[in-house]
Amino acid sequence: MFNNNEGLYINGSWFPAHNQATFDSENPATGKVVGVVPEATPQQIEDAVQAAHKARISWGKIPGPERAQYLQLASKEFEHSKDEIINLLIAETGSTFGKAMFELDFTVQFLKAASADYRFGNGEVFPSEDGTLSYTTRRPLGVVVCISPWNVPLILSMKKIVGALIAGNTVILKPSEESSLIAMKIAQVFAAINLPPGVFNLVTGHGDVGQALIAHPLTKAVSFTGSTATGKKIAAQAGGLLKKCILELGGKDAVIILQDIDIDFAVNATIFSGLFHQGQTCMSAERILVESSIADKFIEKLVQKAKSLKMGDPSDHSVEIGPMMSKRQLQIVEDHVDDAKKNGAQILCGGETTNGIFYPPTVLTGVTRNMKVFRDETFGPLLPVLTFDTLDEAIEMANDSEYGLSGGVLTDNLEKAFYITNQLDTGMVHIGNGSVLDDPIDCAFGGIKNSGMGRESGKHSYETLTELKWITVHHQKPVFPF
Ligand code: NAD
Repeated sequence: MFNNNEGLYINGSWFPAHNQATFDSENPATGKVVGVVPEATPQQIEDAVQAAHKARISWGKIPGPERAQYLQLASKEFEHSKDEIINLLIAETGSTFGKAMFELDFTVQFLKAASADYRFGNGEVFPSEDGTLSYTTRRPLGVVVCISPWNVPLILSMKKIVGALIAGNTVILKPSEESSLIAMKIAQVFAAINLPPGVFNLVTGHGDVGQALIAHPLTKAVSFTGSTATGKKIAAQAGGLLKKCILELGGKDAVIILQDIDIDFAVNATIFSGLFHQGQTCMSAERILVESSIADKFIEKLVQKAKSLKMGDPSDHSVEIGPMMSKRQLQIVEDHVDDAKKNGAQILCGGETTNGIFYPPTVLTGVTRNMKVFRDETFGPLLPVLTFDTLDEAIEMANDSEYGLSGGVLTDNLEKAFYITNQLDTGMVHIGNGSVLDDPIDCAFGGIKNSGMGRESGKHSYETLTELKWITVHHQKPVFPF
């Protein structure tokens, strides 16, 4: 998949892992090393920034439809490498086959759709009393630093890269240290389509590499997806330098289930939103709020379904629940369950680590708001269920969180659905669905409160990653007061 010369990708050339510090990327299910990743040196960071800075002039000037052609080519190349990428997502990040397929298909569709986004480059013309032409244009920012997490590494890296490229910027990708091989595959795709040197660059390494990229005077913006703790550090660093930043951060999403809904459908929606990628997605349903009158029946069926899912090494494509990404991630889950038990919650299924790194779907009842499972992001396969009697109680409970990413409202009663959604403090909410949803064609992805700042996709990425310029043209000579 990778030859020995491949590692960092700077200015259209590969820089191999030998002769410098490296770290291993491991298969979470087996602990086996999947590949070796170079830790970028300060000189390589400098080289990547200089290359991207130089390339920004010609890339920013080529017509939008030509930039679009590169993205169309990349989409074909991803399709061409489908099996290889799916296997890598399974091996490097513990993705199940279904989740890996979803990532690949979404990326292909996203590239096709986003290639038309150069059309968002339109400015606006302002009304003028004296015939002055007064208008705005949009210009690329220059070098954009894209920093991505490990959980959905292909989609989340590509959303940032593509949003920046189509707007005429050049990119340096700093992927998570836990999913750097996927990022190397992205670099292979851009190399294969002959994207001009310096337009896309990959520097791998840990958090300090990201920090150095943001600090560099020639980088102009940072597009970040990751934890709230890191996002706050990045916001402080970028803010001090007056660099634009877009932040997609953590979540503690609620799914609200009303008594009129078909219970089997509600169970399926909850299971998907709570357990997709072992609950390791920012939009995971981490608080399940059920109307009291159907709670017993709903919980019984939820437990039944949770117990029926197949858990194991996802190299077996029939597996539905794969490994936790790391011991660190597993310990958070164990800590949240211990805390819930200590404070009086009941564990109806799951609740114990299996085979070292696997954590089974776990349904908790008797959950109270002081518990970590209610307050903190778990990022694991826990389904804490709470009940409510009135819509206002459900809304107040859902809003009782430092986070505000997504949410789901499961009811067929649209009047009640709008009453709830209009009052939820979240950046996204889905009626008739769970909390986990994204759209490759277009949407306004993002959160509020501790879930982030700014929106990604389509015109939202375009507007964030360009600068507005106001221009006037005076047909009559202005009269000056002195
Ligand atoms: P993380 O914050 O630990 O790391 C994310 C990236 O930031 C990595 O590439 C890391 O190397 C880099 N980084 C770390 N410290 C840095 C620093 N000081 N400066 C610059 N870069 C730095 O997050 P993670 O564990 O990789 O991802 C999981 C988190 O991401 C969860 O909290 C999840 O909710 C969140 N997430 C959010 C979204 C969203 O769209 N809102 C999507 C996916 C994941």
